[in-house]
Amino acid sequence: MGTIIKGKAVADSITESVIADVKELKGAGTTPKLAIVRVGDDPSDLAYERGALKRMDKCGIDVEVFELRKDVSQKDFLESLKRINEDGGIHGILVFRPMPGHLDEEAIKYVISPEKDVDSFSPVNVAKVTEGDETGFPPATPTAVMEMLKFYGVDLKGKHAVVVGRSMVVGKPVSMLLLKENATVTICHSRTKDLPEMCRRADVLIAAVGRAKMIDGSYVKEGAVIIDVGINMDKDGNMCGDVDFESCKDKASMITPVPAGVGSVTTSVLAKHVVKACRLQTGM
Ligand code: NAP
Repeated sequence: MGTIIKGKAVADSITESVIADVKELKGAGTTPKLAIVRVGDDPSDLAYERGALKRMDKCGIDVEVFELRKDVSQKDFLESLKRINEDGGIHGILVFRPMPGHLDEEAIKYVISPEKDVDSFSPVNVAKVTEGDETGFPPATPTAVMEMLKFYGVDLKGKHAVVVGRSMVVGKPVSMLLLKENATVTICHSRTKDLPEMCRRADVLIAAVGRAKMIDGSYVKEGAVIIDVGINMDKDGNMCGDVDFESCKDKASMITPVPAGVGSVTTSVLAKHVVKACRLQTGM
């Protein structure tokens, strides 16, 4: 059986280094601060917010939650966002997405300050990730995938990485990050022909499909590293990934579980990004 690689050790390691950074910044007179902008009270937003608040607290990062009414107008939303952009005491901004349908995300993404955009909403950060410009902020989940691979010593140079999924939040950015680490990357999606065959070519297989247990053992090459980004519910109502863990675990050399895998790393990545934003803005 392959090694089960969990997220907690990775999150703890990142948190430890963020705590040290925050201590240094506080010593120099600045406390990093994150603004969370939430429209309405979607349960998954609230769950992530609770996790983020806990992590920021552990790291010593200040947080202010801007809770806007579910029916907030585009104009009022933009006014709030601009005020947060201009608030010198706030270094990072996380806007929960997807937003309610009456709000125009395509317009909003051009307004969030790229320097404070710690979860890659702004097109400036999307471009920076594509360019490999490290002053940008990739989204938290793809960054968590890369942190997992780094922590567990997976050398990506020259390896064939296959990413299943091409969304802007996971598939595309993680592909760019893998490419930056000199992997050879194949991106698959719903129109890919013979997906199992494509996946069997992977040294590193990243599943970001959003379909419970779709990637089974027949998609996996002996010895592959499997990173499961999926968060789904199985037919019994239990949380599961996009990977059928049971049928893949004996073929993989390393495999992430769900829960307790990639998802556990995202809030520590967010904290790391707030510190990075604070340093870039203050020059400290
Ligand atoms: P998404 O926007 O729905 O994108 C899913 C992608 O998978 C699309 O590119 C789609 O292809 C592809 N796909 C769907 N069915 C497929 C099939 N049968 N064969 C091949 N490709 C298929 O989802 P997402 O936001 O990227 O999220 C992916 C998963 O990650 C979800 O389970 C989500 O809950 C999870 N997630 C986890 C975290 C975390 O912190 N761990 C964060 C975000 C998301 P097309 O482009 O052709 O439609």
